[in-house]
Amino acid sequence: MMKITKFGGSSVANAQQFRKVKHIIESDPARRFVVVSASGREHKKDNKVTDLLYLIEAHLKYSVDHLSLFHLIEERFISIKNDLGLSYPIEEDLAKLKGQLNKTMSTDYLVSRGEYLTAKLMAEYLGFPFVDAKDIITFRYDGKIDFDATKYRMDNTMKKLDRFVIPGFYGALPDGTVRTMSRGGSDITGSILADILNADMYENWTDVSGILMADPRIVHHPKRINTITYSELRELSYMGASVLHEEAIFPVKEKNIPINILNTNHPEEGGTIIVEKDDHPSEQMITGIAGKKNFTVIAIYKNHMSDEVGIIRRALEICENYRISIEHIPSGIDSFSIVVNSEDVKDIIYDMVGDMKKACNADEIKIIDNISLIATVGRQMMYRPGISGKLFAVLGKNNINIRMIAQGTDEMNIIVGVENKDYEKTVETIYNNFVV
Ligand code: ASP
Repeated sequence: MMKITKFGGSSVANAQQFRKVKHIIESDPARRFVVVSASGREHKKDNKVTDLLYLIEAHLKYSVDHLSLFHLIEERFISIKNDLGLSYPIEEDLAKLKGQLNKTMSTDYLVSRGEYLTAKLMAEYLGFPFVDAKDIITFRYDGKIDFDATKYRMDNTMKKLDRFVIPGFYGALPDGTVRTMSRGGSDITGSILADILNADMYENWTDVSGILMADPRIVHHPKRINTITYSELRELSYMGASVLHEEAIFPVKEKNIPINILNTNHPEEGGTIIVEKDDHPSEQMITGIAGKKNFTVIAIYKNHMSDEVGIIRRALEICENYRISIEHIPSGIDSFSIVVNSEDVKDIIYDMVGDMKKACNADEIKIIDNISLIATVGRQMMYRPGISGKLFAVLGKNNINIRMIAQGTDEMNIIVGVENKDYEKTVETIYNNFVV
């Protein structure tokens, strides 16, 4: 059994968190490959080292004094080192970095130092070798990961090592220049390594005990999702549930490596396992509910539309011309609607609708703002009759007016559009009626 074990920023925020990490690593011999984020927030009002580094970069750019920001980073790392009694001369690395700070320095290099320094401290504390991500994770010049080159380098490293700590979030271009991933990218590093090393499990340690069935700000103490499939997670994340960097799913999905989301502060609580396929049916009919507010529905009406060829294409072409991404296209016999993000169209909606009216020769176009979309997701709903009927009935009984409905062809996801004012009530009503 071999696991890739990734710890997020809050799990390495201070010496106390480092101790928890060590305890977790030592309690399971399968945890030999450790990825760390940069030291994150100790508490809500605290700063993440990566945010501070981005801020330093902005200060350098505008020639504003950055030293007090850098001092916060120094303090953070030196206090972890001293609290844990480590000997790594981090003061020297910090002094060197301070000396390198200038307007023209590479942003990627600068912001990657949060992960680098955190991993150096963690490696010594765990007694594991340190491996620099720039020597393993290889980017192509187009910014995509070069899996073959990364695997080649990893295989060479593995000839010498049977455990290590590696910083997440960055790698290097073929010429060795440091290149970072998008924010939250350490999740991706873990996933790439799990894929390349053929891990049995990718553990992602955070500050929540897995993924909840609904937003806890809306539903009081929602239940945890014990098992979720990659596809369900994709649907829920798209609709706003955020636990894992989206791009972290693809490398492990290919190899069917499960991801386990766990809580560094409460390992005993267990977490959520993300798998390709779940053979054990859960007692819950639905897996989760997620949603987003502020969509605009553009409803296009035309008599005998159903006999007309190309009308939807012409409307969509207008969206394309305005570079507007479309969320859904629910349709009727003589009408169809285009659902878009309100923020994206706020400055151009009337021009766009004017163009659509002409292109489609529409009888009428209505713009409906302030719409929320709520997705009810569940692999167990697939091909099971009566679920959508029950959903619409319970919403109706609770006086929630459904403005639109969309369902994927695999029947794993039912999306309802309601007015923003009904958003929270809709999530609660679905949860209360479907979760046992
Ligand atoms: N430290 C980086 C960030 O804050 C990457 C990560 O934490 O995954 O975005």
